[in-house]
Formats: sequence, structure tokens, C-alpha cells
Amino acid sequence: MTVPMLEIRNLSKFFPIRNAFGRHTGDVRAVDDVSFSIERGAVYGLAGESGSGKSTIARMIMGLETPTSGEIRIDGESIASSFGTRAHGKKVQMVFQNPGSSLNPRRTVGQSVAVPLDAHGHPGRDRARRISELLEMVQLPANFAERFPHELSGGQKQRVAIARALAVAPKLLVLDEPTSALDVSVQARVIDLLVDLGRRLDLTFLFISHDLSLMRNFAGRVGILYRGKIVETGPTSDVFVDPQHDYTRLLLASVPVISAEEEAMRPKIPLIDGEIPTAEKLIEIRALNTKNSFNEEQPG
Ligand code: ADP
Repeated sequence: MTVPMLEIRNLSKFFPIRNAFGRHTGDVRAVDDVSFSIERGAVYGLAGESGSGKSTIARMIMGLETPTSGEIRIDGESIASSFGTRAHGKKVQMVFQNPGSSLNPRRTVGQSVAVPLDAHGHPGRDRARRISELLEMVQLPANFAERFPHELSGGQKQRVAIARALAVAPKLLVLDEPTSALDVSVQARVIDLLVDLGRRLDLTFLFISHDLSLMRNFAGRVGILYRGKIVETGPTSDVFVDPQHDYTRLLLASVPVISAEEEAMRPKIPLIDGEIPTAEKLIEIRALNTKNSFNEEQPG
């Protein structure tokens, strides 16, 4: 069996809660015993509402946060020893949600893309050629190297952020809500670009989003994160067609419907905006649903 590109084992991150006197009164279990792995060249979607622990997982993979317990292995190697080193940056890079704030407004596109090249000791004389090559990879003309971020659209900025993440040829890309700030048609084009890059460069992706509909055509497998725990995982098509957990059904209820067949499959439960329902609430909603569908089947 081949070694997975990313392997996460029993990963937890608890943040201490302190009272006004600084006494430790409990913990926020941001990530609670999470395990999953991503095969080389695959796309894994991690979905969950705001506050479910997605960014904390991403930050631990990037070495920006230390796990309370558990292990993260990239390409077979534990990352604990390489935090903050060049070697870690060469393995994994991240693309953030808001391309506007991740690019320095005073730097040209070329200068921004050059930052990781310089940091990794890329030869200066080859820099311009590599920048053109990276812009071509993300389907931007080479003369964009001279432009400033304010001259670019949201989609173009995100392409630059992707080019910068690819500069040191990482094996794994963590995409944290990479298209959430973009219009729907632009989102689709950025996803198409990522699919194309994944194939051409043999990249592995961890795709983090609160939006399950984006995962449908991109991620081969998904994990559903609920209050720091993965409550369901499997091939995307299985999770879409036959969700096993109430919370997954709730997330799917907000996915736009594209065919009559899918409409029939869609659970009739309301999504409570911005609020993660408790297990009791989910049971209440389910009971309500069963009652409603019973009423529908009993005309008059
Ligand atoms: P998501 O990315 O899914 O929105 P996060 O990983 O940002 O979720 O947050 C998960 C939980 O951890 C939330 O309850 C959040 O308030 C808490 N949390 C995140 N970072 C910190 C921190 N530095 N200190 C305390 N609590 C935190």
C-alpha cells in the first residue's frame, strides 16, 4: 500500500478557557480526536459550519498552531520536527479565503510571487522566467507581473495567490475557503483551474469549505466536521446520495438543487443560519420533518 500524502491521526486541539481571575475553568475542544488521510493526487473536502474546527486543523497542518495531541504526517513524515522550516514549506502551502488581504497592496504581482522563491533560495537570475511560468500555470498573461493588486479582479487575485503557493512546488495544497469571497461564475473557473493544476502537477488537495455544493465536483472524498469531530466521511457521491448523520443532512439541505432527481433526495429541513444546532435540536427538527411528511401523505 502506498503512503498517503496527508495522514492525520487522533488530532486534537483544546484552547483553555480562563475566568476573570485567570483560572483555567475548562477547554474549547476546537478539534477533538480527528483522523483522516488523503491519497497522493486526491482531493479531500473538509466541510462544516463556522466554528466546527476547520481552520484550526488547517493551521496545525501549516505549523501555525501546535496540536494538544495526535499526529500529522505529510508524505510519510511527521511534521512535528519540521515546523517553521523551509522543508515544511516545500511540502505544504496554503491558499486563504480572501486574496485581497493575502497580497501586499504595495508589491507588484511579480514581487509577491518572488517572495517564496527568494525565501527558498531560488536563483535570482532564473526568477523572471519562473514568475512567467507560474503566471502561465494559473492562466494569467506574463505581463501581469507588473500589475498591482488593486488593478486585478477578485478571481485574478486568487490566481496570483495560487501561483505564489505553487512557487516552491509543494506536494500538498491546503485551500481554506479559496472561493468564498468570489462570485459563483468566478468560483467555478477557479475550481476548474485547481482541477487542471492538480492533474498537471500531481498535487494533493485538502479543500476546506462550509459549502458542500463546491465539493460535489471537486473532492473525491469528504469529511463532515461537527463541533471538532468528524461525524461522517466517505466518497463524496455516497455522502451526497445517502448521508448517514443528521448534521450532514442539515448541511446538504442548503446545497442548491440542480435536478429533479436531486430535489427528491434533498431532505426537507431548514438550515439555521450561522448556528450549529445541538444534537437535541437536530432530533427535534427530524421529528418535525417526519410529522410533516406524514401529513403530506395523508391528504385531507
Ligand atoms: P472554523 O474554521 O470551522 O470556523 P475554527 O477552527 O476557527 O472553526 O474554530 C473552532 C473553535 O475553536 C471555535 O469555537 C473557535 O471559537 C475556537 N477557537 C479557534 N481559535 C481559538 C483560539 N486561538 N483561542 C480560543 N478559541 C479558539
